Amino acid sequence: MAANWQRGMMRLMRIANHPTEVVEIRDFTPWYRRIVFRAPDVVGAVDVFPTLWLRLWVPHPAKGDGFVVQRGYTFVTVDAATSTFSLDFVLHDVAGPAGDWARTAAVGDRLEVALTPARIDIPDGTTTLVLAGDATALPAINTWLQAAPPEVETRVLLEEEHVDRDALPRTVRENGSWEWVERSGDRGAALAEAIRSSVAPQPGVYAWAAGEKTLVKNVRGVLRDHLTLDRGRHFTQFYWIEGKSTG
Ligand SMILES: Cc1cc2nc3c(=O)[nH]c(=O)nc-3n(C[C@H](O)[C@H](O)[C@H](O)COP(=O)(O)OP(=O)(O)OC[C@H]3O[C@@H](n4cnc5c(N)ncnc54)[C@H](O)[C@@H]3O)c2cc1C
Repeated sequence: MAANWQRGMMRLMRIANHPTEVVEIRDFTPWYRRIVFRAPDVVGAVDVFPTLWLRLWVPHPAKGDGFVVQRGYTFVTVDAATSTFSLDFVLHDVAGPAGDWARTAAVGDRLEVALTPARIDIPDGTTTLVLAGDATALPAINTWLQAAPPEVETRVLLEEEHVDRDALPRTVRENGSWEWVERSGDRGAALAEAIRSSVAPQPGVYAWAAGEKTLVKNVRGVLRDHLTLDRGRHFTQFYWIEGKSTG
């Protein structure tokens, strides 16, 4: 029986689940929401680094009562003093268990989360950090902007065209630029073009990109062909797939 196979797998892998409780909800825009969770276990267990994410267990009512599925979300803050952490949710229009849960979340709601940290670091000698993606990558991009050493130049390029995008949370840095890119054609096609025209191939570049699968593929192409970055100088990850549920 396929019932909650994801939870079965995690149990087999001996990955612990930790309880959390919603303590605060803040909307930056009608479609981008920050939720603060109280979770002493989690806050005590995490070693914070840029892009650190967790697996959130959310109810999937369509699959039955009590059925839960896991979805990836990025830590945007971790506060030891209050034993809280926060996650930013894109409240997407197409229904999905995590988006739907976040849209109707209320203070006092309880969920479990699991941690499977995979550390990521920029290589020595990095002088320019290129950060690209869509709104789902914004939480991680903000963690990069907080953690990057001041002497490293940051170049953010985000494909996002909501009219209220300027209300989204953005970590401000002196040594950095931010470019909104309007989608045109396939996801990521305009973003790849923007990277091609505004970032010159040069030593010391490290690039990180995440978001929708086609977007990431388009960006990866330009990181390899135009910026000629080898494996150690870039990292890309699909965060979601248009038209396909995570399962
Ligand atoms: C490592 C990692 C970190 C992530 N961090 C974040 C984060 O911090 N914040 C965040 O918002 N997301 C983040 N994501 C992406 C998030 O996990 C996915 O968007 C996920 O699909 C949402 O689950 P769901 O249950 O709402 O929808 P699903 O059941 O997965 O999908 C249902 C439908 O919704 C569509 N869909 C899913 N996400 C989006 C979207 N963003 N926009 C438009 N349509 C969508 C799918 O294409 C599908 O048609 C992260 C993913 C990973 C792997």
